[in-house]
Amino acid sequence: MEQTSQVFYRRWRPQALAEVVGQGPVTQTLLNALASGRVSHAYLFCGPRGTGKTSTGRILAKAVNCLAGGRGEPCNACDLCRAITEGRALDIIEIDAASNRGIDEIRELRERVSYAPNQAHYKVYIIDEVHMLTKEASNALLKTLEEPPPQVIFILATTEIHKVLPTIISRCQRFDFRRLSQADIVAKLSHICDAEGIQAEPEALRLVARSSRGSLRDAENLLEQMTAYYGPEVGLHQVQAVLGITGDWRAKELVKHVINNDVAAGIATINSASGDGLDLRQFNREVVEYLRNLLLTKTGSGEAADLTPEDMAELQALAGQASLPQVLRAVKLFGEVELGLDGYSTLPLELALVDCILAAEGEASIPRPTAVEVPRPVTAAPAQPAASERPVKKVRPAVEKAEPAPAVNEASPEKAEPVTEVDTPPPGGELEELRLNWKRVIEDAPADVKRTNAVALLRSAGVKPVDIEDDTVVLAFKYNLHKENMEKPENQRVAERIVSHFLGRTCRVRCIYQSESNHLVEAAKKMGARVISVEEK
Ligand SMILES: [Zn+2]
Repeated sequence: MEQTSQVFYRRWRPQALAEVVGQGPVTQTLLNALASGRVSHAYLFCGPRGTGKTSTGRILAKAVNCLAGGRGEPCNACDLCRAITEGRALDIIEIDAASNRGIDEIRELRERVSYAPNQAHYKVYIIDEVHMLTKEASNALLKTLEEPPPQVIFILATTEIHKVLPTIISRCQRFDFRRLSQADIVAKLSHICDAEGIQAEPEALRLVARSSRGSLRDAENLLEQMTAYYGPEVGLHQVQAVLGITGDWRAKELVKHVINNDVAAGIATINSASGDGLDLRQFNREVVEYLRNLLLTKTGSGEAADLTPEDMAELQALAGQASLPQVLRAVKLFGEVELGLDGYSTLPLELALVDCILAAEGEASIPRPTAVEVPRPVTAAPAQPAASERPVKKVRPAVEKAEPAPAVNEASPEKAEPVTEVDTPPPGGELEELRLNWKRVIEDAPADVKRTNAVALLRSAGVKPVDIEDDTVVLAFKYNLHKENMEKPENQRVAERIVSHFLGRTCRVRCIYQSESNHLVEAAKKMGARVISVEEK
């Protein structure tokens, strides 16, 4: 993101402790100290960037020096207050320890610290990013803190307290600044918009706030940048465009399709996002983020997600339709999606989608142990009509209900009813080896192809080896889309290398599309049914 001129940040910097946003405990303690006249000679302000540390330091410098002397907030009207606000007060010295000049300035500080203030009552040193000081500079500072000259106040600020010398920390009064809440930031941004004549959509401000992760300065700079680009009207879509977030609604839509087990609609959403040129990596991040919020809602910890009431209601409705294992699996599968550097191939997203839904389907269709007596493997039980029919019937309803596949043949399951005998792989043969070890076959893929699309395709739950014809291994795909992808020469080559590697001989690979009802038969076979014939479609 471009550096902005930080006009808003400077113009809207708080000038009184009461104006510091979201740091109630800090500002209240400081006000109490001012009121009772117990001002420390060294403060350490720690916390994330943009949370008000140096602004608070400046206000404190004014408060202790204000000529109105009110023992509380500065008046912001007397000569000294104004000089400090305008950055021209000789006795208020701001040092950026992160800059190259830091060391020299600390050395200078050592020499000059004992001189009395010029005009002010207190000389105030504000040292920002104090953890960046070199060892020598830190030690020099420590010596000064050990023998604090009268009428000098040190205000040290840091984003990384663990890098500050413990001996320095122990000599300061420490205040922890918190990351600002989204609501705090939105309130301040709205105030700025009102005063600057900016028309901003509430969702736009919420997105600005959310993306700035608790840093008011970042949020103010982003708002300023938005108005510099787009003028005084700031809409949600403009913020999304600047942040590179464009697929917000489609990410939610995809999650809904996952929960509804709707593969066809899910694939359509992914392709619509891709077709509009979205960065699919960003799109996937949003899908995962939304799934994460769904998971939090499902487990009753929705508050942790810092959501608007509208988002919360939407998520609660969706959570009512989803099972916890379903959401968990979706978070995991989409969280593991690895999109290529270009971020434009839709395949990894499609695979995650299909895997989610196949797994949900598998859950629904696996009969409970008490419901079906699963016979021992086929070889032990030849042609028993009871075994061939019963499991098929148990499987069918659940699978039908899920209806997940696009372009799946509408053939009724009756057509797949066993008719004549078909070979099952002989035990101990190459095909059985491949089938039983299919996961390992893929895991053992040569290192240079492990992260290819082909491997992602092979890993998908809808793929399995179904036959070996001489030196050709036949792979069945549940989705035609995946089959067609695998048939691309570069993917086919990878598949052939992987299979050859496992079988220890050079093999070719042929891909076929095996429709849903055939998978039904497969499921029945897994449970011991003997399939006699499968109608070709
Ligand atoms: Zn004053």
